[in-house]
Formats: sequence, structure tokens, C-alpha cells
Amino acid sequence: MRVALYDDSLFRQHDAGPGHPERPARLDAIRRGIRAAGLEGKLLLLTPRPATPQQILRVHTEQHLSRVAASAGHTRRFDLDTWAGPRSYAAALLAAGAVTDAVDRVLNGELDRAFCAVRPPGHHAEADRVMGFCLFNNVAIAAAHGLARGLSRVAIVDWDVHHGNGTQAIFYEDARVLYVSSHEYPFYPGTGALDETGAGAGKGFTVNLPLPAGLGDAEYARLYREVVAPIGRAFDPELVLVSAGFDPHRDDPLAGMRMTEHGFAALADVCLGIARGAAGGRVVVALEGGYDEEALAMSAAAVVARLLGEGKPEAPPERAPRLDPLLTDYRRELGRFWDLASC
Ligand code: ZN
Repeated sequence: MRVALYDDSLFRQHDAGPGHPERPARLDAIRRGIRAAGLEGKLLLLTPRPATPQQILRVHTEQHLSRVAASAGHTRRFDLDTWAGPRSYAAALLAAGAVTDAVDRVLNGELDRAFCAVRPPGHHAEADRVMGFCLFNNVAIAAAHGLARGLSRVAIVDWDVHHGNGTQAIFYEDARVLYVSSHEYPFYPGTGALDETGAGAGKGFTVNLPLPAGLGDAEYARLYREVVAPIGRAFDPELVLVSAGFDPHRDDPLAGMRMTEHGFAALADVCLGIARGAAGGRVVVALEGGYDEEALAMSAAAVVARLLGEGKPEAPPERAPRLDPLLTDYRRELGRFWDLASC
């Protein structure tokens, strides 16, 4: 199994602002976790190249690109949460470039899978707006790159605890991109209700799984096996991208979920399962949120292990009865588009 790890010192030069939880030490924690698990030597360490303007402009406006570019060399406070330091524009180009390069290499057959340890994150960035620590939407740019290379079905699974409003908005009317998000709700950024299902030709291809706080590994694993897996398999993507936020972890300071690294391994297994058809196992994972360093270290290592095919699949979860009423709602809404009857 050829699995790449994308990392670069430039990602650590993105300065999100003083005391900001989205800090360079997050990437050091991930590297430490992967090393401690004995996995680093099994990965291909790749240095990314910056995304080109043409790649960025597939999902962002000219105005957006110019606005972020103008922050180079300065400290720019876009909003309360989202800052750019002097090197942030360069880091953001490289973050989008890493995920895009990973897509190129898996499509070229040079790699099977990749884990992109990038900063700044991307899934809140909209076509014309930076938001929620995100400057460019890395995963959306990578998905658009896959489409530009001729793919007709790309799946994005977003398990970050926050809804990926940017990714949803960018592909809301596009049937070629299945966007599935599980997230705490109601919560930042406020979007991601169950009845947000896409529009026009894209109707049904946005799948939101809003969750109450306090859910752990058992609930998440059941949700992914009973809802995400059948939808993903029915869509049969040619490429699977994962917006991997590790902020549903029980130790995360920003959110209220209760997952551990075992839960993330189980979610990775579901994503790998979705990729088993037309995608031929191609999965590209990109870091989004996750703000507790130890949680990041353990969880990223657990996911990388699954990408490498190491460790044994997580055992089927206990029944997780808290999920029953939610599954009833999901089946009613999403059953209009997808066959969930047999779940
Ligand atoms: Zn998040």
C-alpha cells in the first residue's frame, strides 16, 4: 500500500493570531503521533507544491483570491476568528496544493492514499469568503481538480465536528460531488440542517447528519455504517476525499462530542469501504480542525494506520440507542434520495 504523508515547514508559518487554537503545534503533534505509532517509516513523505491560481479559481472568485493574496507580508484580520499573518497566503496556497497534488498522484496511480497534514484548514471557506480559520477550501479545490481531470463522481466525507458550510455551498447544485457531513448541531457555523439536501441538479447530493452533543465512538460508528456507508456505496465515487477534523474528540476544547481515536479509525474504515468500488481504493484525507494535541496525535495515527491497512478493523459498535430517533429522522429525509430501507 503506497500511502503518502504531506507536510511542510511552511504550514507552521501560518499565524492565525495570538493565542489562537489553530496553531502550528497541531502539526508537530500529528507527526509525533505517527512516529510514536511506528508508522512514519511506512509512509512516503512528500513536499507539496503551491496550488496554481487556475486551480484556486475553480472554486473561489477572483476577488477572494486577490483579497487573500493581498495579506502576504502583513497581518490581516479578516474576521474575529480568521487572521492571516505574513506567510499565511503562501501556506494557504501550499495547503490547497498538497491536497490537489495528492489527487493527481492517486489518479496517476503513483499513490493509493494520502494524509495531508495541512494548515490553514479549509472547509468553512466559501467561494467569496474566508471564514472559521479557513482561507482557501483545500478539499473543494482538490475535488474540483478531480472533476477537471475528467472524474464524474467525487465523494467528500466531512467528519469535522463543525459543518463544512463552504464545501456544501460550493457544490450545492453539483450532482458530481456527494458531500456528506456529520456535525454537532445547532453549533458553529449554524448551517447543516437535515433538510439542506442540495438544489437543482445537485438535489440529494448534499447529505447533512446534524448531531446533538455528547455522542461517542459507538454512535458515530453506527451512524457511519448505517447511513454514510450505504449512501457512499450507492453513489460509487471514483475518488473519496475526507475532511478530517479531529474536534469531535472527547478532549477537544472547542466542541462537545466524546469520540476517541478508535472512533476515527472506524470512520476511516467506512471511507475506505466507500472507495472500494469505482474509486479503486483511492482516498485522500485532509486535516481540518482538532485542537487538543494529544487527541490529534492519537487520532491522526489511528487514521493513518487504517490507510496503511494496519491494525484490525474496529469491532461493530454496541447498539448506541441514542441514535435511534436520529436514524428515524435521517431515513425519512434522506430516504427520498437514497435507499436506506435495508439499514
Ligand atoms: Zn471543526
